[in-house]
Amino acid sequence: MPTPPDAIGFTQDPLDRMSEKRDDETFLASLSEDAATRFLLFANNNVPLFKRADGHDPLFLAHEAAQFGTPLQTVLLGRDADRRALFACSVDTTAEAAADALPGASVEAIELRPVAMQGLVAPPLVSALGEARSMLDWHRRHRFCANCGNPTDSAGAGWRRICGQCGAQHFPRVDPVVIMLVTDGERCLLGRQPQFATGMYSALAGFIEPGETFEHAVYREVLEEAGIRCADVRYFASQPWPFPSSLMIGCFARATDTEITVDEKELEDARWFSRDEVRAMLDGTHPQGLNAPKAFAIAHHLLKAFVEGD
Ligand SMILES: [Zn+2]
Repeated sequence: MPTPPDAIGFTQDPLDRMSEKRDDETFLASLSEDAATRFLLFANNNVPLFKRADGHDPLFLAHEAAQFGTPLQTVLLGRDADRRALFACSVDTTAEAAADALPGASVEAIELRPVAMQGLVAPPLVSALGEARSMLDWHRRHRFCANCGNPTDSAGAGWRRICGQCGAQHFPRVDPVVIMLVTDGERCLLGRQPQFATGMYSALAGFIEPGETFEHAVYREVLEEAGIRCADVRYFASQPWPFPSSLMIGCFARATDTEITVDEKELEDARWFSRDEVRAMLDGTHPQGLNAPKAFAIAHHLLKAFVEGD
């Protein structure tokens, strides 16, 4: 079994979340006043803001963050490797209004996916932005109690919401997804969804349903999408995927038959690929221009491990 790489996007240098401090109001107030504290700002449509100079800087100082008005939501993300506290803030602005919000500096709103894909910021910041995006998106979509329908309020430094009417507590959720590379020993099974970029094939994936283990979800999804039965599911690595809040559980599985029947509601195509073909797809040298997900996605690392001889 290959060692999972440390280069998977959104996984590098996770913050110290200081979860035991989330209800310590004195501590939280001291962080807000600490000059080292930094703020990751998101426009209210969940797009991160960057100060533009030589590069893309998502770390706003307190007085810079204040230029965007009182945040709609604040979450304590944690402390980084330099022991600076990072907060995520949703601010009530648009990309156009944000551009000129800071005197003497330009600000740009860029969706997180291209930021991660193109490596516009260092990997630890990609991880922090991912955590921030999932949390702010959760707050934006959970303003009302799922139990009684009344408004809820943020508590615990942004890590739960409480209903003022019935007292129910609501916690941020993570949706588990299995992503699996099915092999028959020499070849692997890849599929193409209609919305993929031209020529791209990737590992099959699907949400885990209530009552399923991740192994059962792998068997079901592969059978549904490609008509292939498989066995011997082996865990590889996982990846938080903040669109909006999934956890990708990367696995290998062994096919026990090879006759593909594509579910055309889910996939445009599914095929077996040899190691040489996958190597060419990862290198960008495939003769038909077929390609595979980039290194920030866990699928890339499953394919790389397969090519390297898993
Ligand atoms: Zn309620």
